[in-house]
Amino acid sequence: MRLLRMGAPGAERPCLLLEDGTTVDVSAYVSDFGPDFFAGDGVNRLRALLAAGTDLPRIDLDAGSRVGSCVPRPHKVICVGLNYSDHAAESGMPLPTEPIIFFKATNTVVGPDDDVLVPRGSTKTDWEVELAIVLGAPGRYLPDEQAALAIVAGYAVANDVSEREFQLERGGQWVKGKSCETFNPLGPWLVTADEVPDPQALSMSLDVNGERRQTGSTATMIFSVAHIVWYLSQFMVLEPGDVINTGTPPGVGMGMKPPTFLQDGDVVELEIEGLGRQRQRVRSAP
Ligand code: ZN
Repeated sequence: MRLLRMGAPGAERPCLLLEDGTTVDVSAYVSDFGPDFFAGDGVNRLRALLAAGTDLPRIDLDAGSRVGSCVPRPHKVICVGLNYSDHAAESGMPLPTEPIIFFKATNTVVGPDDDVLVPRGSTKTDWEVELAIVLGAPGRYLPDEQAALAIVAGYAVANDVSEREFQLERGGQWVKGKSCETFNPLGPWLVTADEVPDPQALSMSLDVNGERRQTGSTATMIFSVAHIVWYLSQFMVLEPGDVINTGTPPGVGMGMKPPTFLQDGDVVELEIEGLGRQRQRVRSAP
């Protein structure tokens, strides 16, 4: 199933994108795709609705329709750094021997086509196409990678927007360069895990102003989805609705010669095979 949220920021309604391409509103049956939805077996309840042939109101998509983030603001946004060997090389950093983990402020999560704001004072705002995991059940000291995959609700496209000066030149943790307003477009939809049989075989790409910048595949992750979820559960309690960004393949602006960063007016388009496409216009933060 493909879960998406349609409507103005803060007033999105839960919807499903059906196999025939129509979008239906399921807000009469579930309030939102938040932690309670996943904890309450919401995916299977919706599946049963569809199987029963329930008549669901169609949404007419037009140019003015806004797609929100595919889940509402999560309790955690956890990120894996340098999880593609060739991206680590372009960043001039050694290959990690254990996953590098950092957090991102959860209110960075915005719709897939919302504007991305270049923060005040920024000259190094950068892009990162990433496979995002959304969890559907709690995870605490998971015994193995199979148990880890069992708590994954599904997958989505994320742009882990990053301000490199704030991240790397201003001291302390990476969090300052990762948490700026609008820095985590997420969606357009969440594809449930049963429809992504191999999360380690998805091609991914990102264009800026129509020029290809990133090309990659989740096949070249250093640490797999299953390993990341298992690993995280050894250090923290994972919860339904948590979002994990799994790292970016090569081709970020910081690695270009010369380094190139986003500016007001740029257009960023990114895609992961089977998970849909995002398109953001870049604006200077007012
Ligand atoms: Zn990242």
